[in-house]
Amino acid sequence: MATTETLLNHWIEGREESSRSGRTGEVTNSATGDVVTQVPFADADEVDAAVQAAVTAAPAWESASLSERTRIMFAFRELLHARREEMARLVTIEHGKVADDALGEVQRELELVEFACGLAQLLKGEHSWQVSRGVDSYTLRQPIGVVAGITPFNFPSMVPGWMFPLAIAAGNTFVLKPSEQDPSASMLLAEMLAEAGLPSGVFNVVHGDREAVDALLTHPRVNAVSFVGSTPVARHVYETATTHGKRAQALGGAKNHAVVLPDADLDYAADQIVAGAYGSSGQRCMAVSAVVAVGEAGDALVEKLSERLERLVVGPGDVPDSQVGPLVSAAARDRVRGLVDAGVDEGADLVRDGRDVAVEGHENGFFIGPCLFDRVEPDMRIYKTEIFGPVLVVLRRQTLDDSIELINANPWGNGAAIFTRNGGAARAFQLRTSAGMIGINVPIPVPMSYYSFGGWKASLFGDIHIHGPEGLRFYTRGKVVSSRWSDAADTPINLAFPTAN
Ligand code: NAD
Repeated sequence: MATTETLLNHWIEGREESSRSGRTGEVTNSATGDVVTQVPFADADEVDAAVQAAVTAAPAWESASLSERTRIMFAFRELLHARREEMARLVTIEHGKVADDALGEVQRELELVEFACGLAQLLKGEHSWQVSRGVDSYTLRQPIGVVAGITPFNFPSMVPGWMFPLAIAAGNTFVLKPSEQDPSASMLLAEMLAEAGLPSGVFNVVHGDREAVDALLTHPRVNAVSFVGSTPVARHVYETATTHGKRAQALGGAKNHAVVLPDADLDYAADQIVAGAYGSSGQRCMAVSAVVAVGEAGDALVEKLSERLERLVVGPGDVPDSQVGPLVSAAARDRVRGLVDAGVDEGADLVRDGRDVAVEGHENGFFIGPCLFDRVEPDMRIYKTEIFGPVLVVLRRQTLDDSIELINANPWGNGAAIFTRNGGAARAFQLRTSAGMIGINVPIPVPMSYYSFGGWKASLFGDIHIHGPEGLRFYTRGKVVSSRWSDAADTPINLAFPTAN
């Protein structure tokens, strides 16, 4: 395995800052297994330096005019667009996803920035003239101060983009703690934000692991925390942050079901499900991970899925024909392999086995090929666990009602999809399914930037979804002002509860 001594820096107060903590981790090229860089693990002092930079920058940034903030967001959008291929390449190396998938991630991020460019319109309040004689009322949405963002490995560029563009546009300052598995994208974001003219200290990056996260969650000057990652960590983040008086939203893991009714176009459904299940090698929180085949749809659907898997090309993300890239790490690959073994041991029918896939010239890459299980039962580990790999499980049910009941009994509730030609069935599904995002003949219902993203149950701790209109609410505090400017000198004293007159 090749190694390199390069150590990434943090980004504090508008420049790179070397780490003094002495603790580091390795960042690997997922397709080759080579170490591409070392990442520092910040200690509490380094986190404090980043938070203090954000505290110092906050008053001036909050006072910057809406036009000034808008110009910077537009300039950043142009830079990200110009350097999108460079960003996508970084994502492919450290994450492993194939090139067009990485470019899709950056495109979605561009759209999030474009939404934030509308900040002047978004931050408009409401105004009522004459709520009582001589009294006007209006609303303000003010920034909350220092916001921390803690992000997962699976979208190293886009998921930070769910957070910082809107947080900054709304006048907050920001400290990002990206995933230690693919941290380089966050440094490119920092560089471009600085080049766009963002004042020093408004956007900071500290690298690290649990120690850095906990330092952010307990820091008295951090006022809000946005987290995206696995459910156990999301629960820890939400509980710790709120116990320390912070506003928090913590998005967790998922097990996303796709129900296929017998009246569906099965070829279309199979195409869409394969894309949704095996894209990014299943490492998406909105990956289709469980198919519920209803009635006679089952046998035909499994056959169609299996045929399509035969044709998928497993390979390194930087080779144009590759469709299924490696997993992010050797540990992730071994964990997924272990879960497939468990599925076989527990008696599920392994229709496609990708465990021993070989990618020529990339023997040390973290590859596992597409796997497909049929006749899976709810008590099996492969159903109860978020596998986060290229493994799809099929369960059989007799009716739509049985399928909805199965989904609603699952602890997660991120996304759910239905494939059907029956409008009544689709309508019942969208109303009765316990999930935050529903697809109707759409496998990955990831909302656009101008809607909000979030799941139910163990997929989100907190009340407010991320990005879009709800994101703007999360990053601002509301205030209602009632004002009287008329000459009120001769108003008599009245101790009764005030009512409009
Ligand atoms: P993870 O929970 O391991 O890590 C997420 C972040 O938390 C990282 O920055 C990591 O450094 C930090 N972290 C890890 N362990 C910690 C601990 N014990 N204490 C404090 N901080 C800790 O998640 P991951 O493996 O990077 O990402 C994959 C997971 O994220 C999957 O479960 C996936 O479903 C989920 N995810 C959810 C969404 C969503 O919108 N709901 C989106 C993307 C990913």
